[in-house]
Amino acid sequence: MTQPTLPEQFRALRAVKDDAGFRAEFQSLTPEDLPAGDTVVRVTHSSLNYKDGLAVAGKPGVLRSYPMTPGIDLAGTVVSDETGTYQPGDAVVLTGWGIGERQDGGYAEYARVRAAWLVPLPPGTTPEWAMSVGTAGFTAMLAVLSLGEHGVAPGSGEVLVTGAAGGVGSTAVALLTAAGHTVTASTGRREEEAYLRSLGAANVIGREELPALGRPLEKERWAGVVDSVGGDTLAGAIASTRAHGSVAACGLAGGSALPTTVFPFILRGVNLLGIDSVNCPQERRQAAWTRLARDLPADRLAEVTQVRPLSDVPALAGEILAGRVRGRTVVDVQ
Ligand code: NDP
Repeated sequence: MTQPTLPEQFRALRAVKDDAGFRAEFQSLTPEDLPAGDTVVRVTHSSLNYKDGLAVAGKPGVLRSYPMTPGIDLAGTVVSDETGTYQPGDAVVLTGWGIGERQDGGYAEYARVRAAWLVPLPPGTTPEWAMSVGTAGFTAMLAVLSLGEHGVAPGSGEVLVTGAAGGVGSTAVALLTAAGHTVTASTGRREEEAYLRSLGAANVIGREELPALGRPLEKERWAGVVDSVGGDTLAGAIASTRAHGSVAACGLAGGSALPTTVFPFILRGVNLLGIDSVNCPQERRQAAWTRLARDLPADRLAEVTQVRPLSDVPALAGEILAGRVRGRTVVDVQ
């Protein structure tokens, strides 16, 4: 097999901000344009996350400087590694660590990164599979691991997933089902009920059916929660979590505020678990990817995933921000 080499020119989607304002445009880059790092990766696949939508659409809060290549996930093969950790041709995945935010990310044919950020692809998996998981699936896995570590065992009761038709939500439904939990999926898109049931959801409820925060304590229902919505949804979920249940807070698709009270925590012993996929330590990353390979094989993810070319990303950014993207989107960078 021929090993990949770093060519003199390659393609990238760049976010640019200058006197003319913000734009995302395709550019031809050279190796000198890549940031500092010890390892070069031939990126074959990236993915689309909510954060990428914000970055590509020029919304504030994700990109720390310009010009920048967005894309918080990448997978592909190692071209060179000065640390000697990886051999040319090794298949790797990288999510988080600030790529696509503080330094160039996955929307380019080549990336220069740090070997310490990479995770070897689990045996039997492909870069396309890894990007079908991506930050969203990895985050869902961290949430499911954290719930398990805080006493939410299969058979302990209904586990609620909010924003269920989105990337984090869809993979959370599939992962919780694979682990033997009874999953209730909450979605604003009732037309996705069949899809959510195909992922394993036992119940599908409308967004509006979740108790809006009317009272600090609602009727106890959830043994555990994976929340990607935040705001009133998270507050309502906390208020209706059973005594000693746990809530994994993953996202803010519906808002960053948390209008809650201390009562669920001090009267019911509810645990609020923070999930951070970006700076997650390496050992936990490896454990999460190993479990993902076991519980979410490619055939289970096929239903959740669409594969789109890099050229579609500017249009897709608007779609994901509008909440119209179902499940996961793999970006083919080849
Ligand atoms: P998606 O856009 O794929 O999914 C978000 C889902 O949230 C939507 O599909 C929708 O689900 C629901 N939603 C959207 N807007 C609203 C709203 N106004 N009110 C209620 N529900 C809403 O995004 P991702 O799954 O990629 O990410 C989800 C969240 O998690 C984001 O906030 C993201 O920033 C965060 N995140 C955090 C990570 C971490 O490390 N903690 C890592 C990855 C993501 P439905 O249609 O089913 O109602």
